[in-house]
Amino acid sequence: MIKVALATLGCKVNQVESEAIKEDLLRQGYELVDFSQEAEVYIINTCTVTHVSDRKSRALIRRARRRNPRAWVIAVGCLAQVDGEKLASLDDVDLVLGHKEQVAEWVERVLQPDDGQAPWPRFDPGQPQACLSPVFYTRRHERTRAFVKIEDGCEAHCSYCIVPLARGPVRSKQAEDVKREIIQLTDLGYREIVLTGIHIGAYGRDLPPLDLTRLLNYLLDETPDNYRLRLGSVEPLEISRPFIALLKGSRRICRHLHIPLQSGSDRILQDMNRHYRRDYFKNLVEELAAEIPGIAITTDVMVGFPGEAQGDFEETYALLKDLPLRDMHVFKFSPRPGTPAAYMPEKVPEHDKQERSGLLLRLAQEKERAFINSQEGQVTEVLVERALSNGNYWGLTDNYLNVEFADSRSEVGELVRVEFKAGGRGRIGHKKGQA
Ligand code: SF4
Repeated sequence: MIKVALATLGCKVNQVESEAIKEDLLRQGYELVDFSQEAEVYIINTCTVTHVSDRKSRALIRRARRRNPRAWVIAVGCLAQVDGEKLASLDDVDLVLGHKEQVAEWVERVLQPDDGQAPWPRFDPGQPQACLSPVFYTRRHERTRAFVKIEDGCEAHCSYCIVPLARGPVRSKQAEDVKREIIQLTDLGYREIVLTGIHIGAYGRDLPPLDLTRLLNYLLDETPDNYRLRLGSVEPLEISRPFIALLKGSRRICRHLHIPLQSGSDRILQDMNRHYRRDYFKNLVEELAAEIPGIAITTDVMVGFPGEAQGDFEETYALLKDLPLRDMHVFKFSPRPGTPAAYMPEKVPEHDKQERSGLLLRLAQEKERAFINSQEGQVTEVLVERALSNGNYWGLTDNYLNVEFADSRSEVGELVRVEFKAGGRGRIGHKKGQA
């Protein structure tokens, strides 16, 4: 059997896309092996979100070539889409694909016996399909939670972000295909489905009148009720009243929203090309917290965007300090060639970025502690993720807390109800029965 190895860098969307590629390869009869083993074909699903991701992508290509100098080395993913020609000029790569939907077909093609001359260019930019292709899931992947990609692409053009160049415009998956994938995955035993994409709040823009709220209503009506849904990141301006009402009224959608802020300074938000103000974000988070008790709201925040003065950072800090957040992901600005922010003057010195990032990371820890304490005594639904060597279990609550709990009969992958204890070893719970 021909061996194929696949390595993935970057975000959840890349991980899900790699799972879809693996499904196609298995269906075509290939054996999937670990990237550390010798294989006939290596596929590297690259990332370009920072210059470090670029470096790691190229390093994986070199590693594949070293493992088997006669193997086919194929690069796909965001770096291949943004900088395909340049990537294809590397000696260690045989083929660069600017799309991921026909990777398995390309593997078939390159392995055909020929006269030693590949009859195709080393870079194929490809043509994305109008709608996202459905995936057919036939087996469980490594995780206890299943990720379903509902959307690709972004048209927001935040001034620091390379993603719209890499991924192109919004393309959504037909609602019936999303439903079919969820049914396949729940039949395989998954009890948590995470809906993911590059910009899921824009879901349906290319399939009017569909939108994210309509999709959620459809899925809740048309799929079995033996699983829970979690949402990937949703932009602040895409959280509508009907969306909040749905979240509030459904116990099957996890009480967890990731809403990127990026900056608490109106001036910087404007330069970032993000079309809301700090007060809008503040009101939104406060409203969600008041309407949906126990909701975990997490956010992204960037420090060191060009022109971010100490006063701008202080506005960001003050805003975040007072908001009921569960956690914050802190990023330091990294210029991506081809984006407007890369050419903005007034670069922020590295030591200032470092200091601001450190302050926000400490604040994030305080927020997490406060949120954990606020959940004392709550009975929440937990997805059992693993059995521990001490006989207890480890799982994830719907509002995104890890909990260790004692029970003699839980099974990994099932949903159970657990009373949350913030004290003692931090997050101990007691099982309260089936969810
Ligand atoms: S919304 Fe902004 S940050 Fe997010 S992917 Fe689109 S351009 Fe990038």
